[in-house]
Amino acid sequence: MTPPATAKTPAPPHPQADEKAVREIRINPIVPSESVLVATARGMRPKKAEAKVERDTRAHVETCPFCRGNESMTPPQIATYPATGPWDIRIVENLYPVLGDDRQNPNLSFGLQQTIDGYGRHEVIIDHASHGIAVHEMSEPHLAMLFGAYRARMRQLYDSNSRLRYVLVFKNFGPAAGASIAHTHSQLIATPVIPDNVQTEVANSRQFYLKQHRCIFCSLIDEALTFEATIYDRESGEIRRAIRVGQYVVERGRRFIAVKPFASRYEWEVHVLPLAHQADFLRLKDDDLADLARVMRRTMARLDAVLGGAQFNYFIHSLPHDVNCEDCDASYHWHIEITPRTSIPTGFELGSGLFVNTVAPEAAAERLRAVELPEN
Ligand SMILES: [Zn+2]
Ligand SMILES: [Zn+2]
Ligand SMILES: [Zn+2]
Repeated sequence: MTPPATAKTPAPPHPQADEKAVREIRINPIVPSESVLVATARGMRPKKAEAKVERDTRAHVETCPFCRGNESMTPPQIATYPATGPWDIRIVENLYPVLGDDRQNPNLSFGLQQTIDGYGRHEVIIDHASHGIAVHEMSEPHLAMLFGAYRARMRQLYDSNSRLRYVLVFKNFGPAAGASIAHTHSQLIATPVIPDNVQTEVANSRQFYLKQHRCIFCSLIDEALTFEATIYDRESGEIRRAIRVGQYVVERGRRFIAVKPFASRYEWEVHVLPLAHQADFLRLKDDDLADLARVMRRTMARLDAVLGGAQFNYFIHSLPHDVNCEDCDASYHWHIEITPRTSIPTGFELGSGLFVNTVAPEAAAERLRAVELPEN
């Protein structure tokens, strides 16, 4: 294992830049219903901050079911990496699955209220043998192995049962983000239904493709890399906003890019996408794993340097395995969404469905980019 990277925290942005308050509703181009009110005026800050968690940095905990040596404390093992010898990554069944193998509940329907039977798989991927290691402290070869493990298990599950239409891989860190065990782990849920937000992304990107003959995600990457615009006030002629090249880019690798979405619901949300168009995470090539690992590690190190111990989730959005998605190969583009939980949603947000982001995405991207990481 390489020693954890040390990162310097940048100074807060220049006060004058900070005073230039943004207040606008930004439409998420892919999912318009997930639009966001960007409001950086003092009165909006801070929203009630989500508690940071004291990270348990111990390498080994005698009583932890996910630590090496305690394998008998977990539900049955599905796989280990490497396959023999001491494991570095271990996949097990979830002790309290939200979905099960059994077919106890046939689909039920009462008028408008429907249930779909809870068939599916729910598994835990123990990310690392070291109990309290953070993602940005893991070595890049280890992270490459982890993304390879996600891909292999997703493929096995899709192959195992044709009823499974979506395999969601996600990671929670911290209680507000849903993690109940401190030992670093990810989860995998395979279901016969496609999550609503993935369905909407697939449908809307298909619409865009039909009109523009381009993948909307590829277009957004191009925009992040090359877009430049100055918006002037029509009456006074003053500059209202200047968008500079690369303003939303957080980290750039050879094959992957980390960008701060223009309409981010979460203050520090960052998306990681392959630079070359690819719809299905399963098509991620072995040769590309190292660069994905590098971009993810460096992005997580930047977030950690700025947010220090913030709770977060990340999840993979990939093309569903469904007949209705078979023609979406050119229009959908897989990605990883990283969503740090730094503030608690307000009543306004829950009631209106409109998220309030109190940090302008361009300012957030600038702070993340300014973190000085050691080159490796
Ligand atoms: Zn542990
Ligand atoms: Zn694309
Ligand atoms: Zn997505």
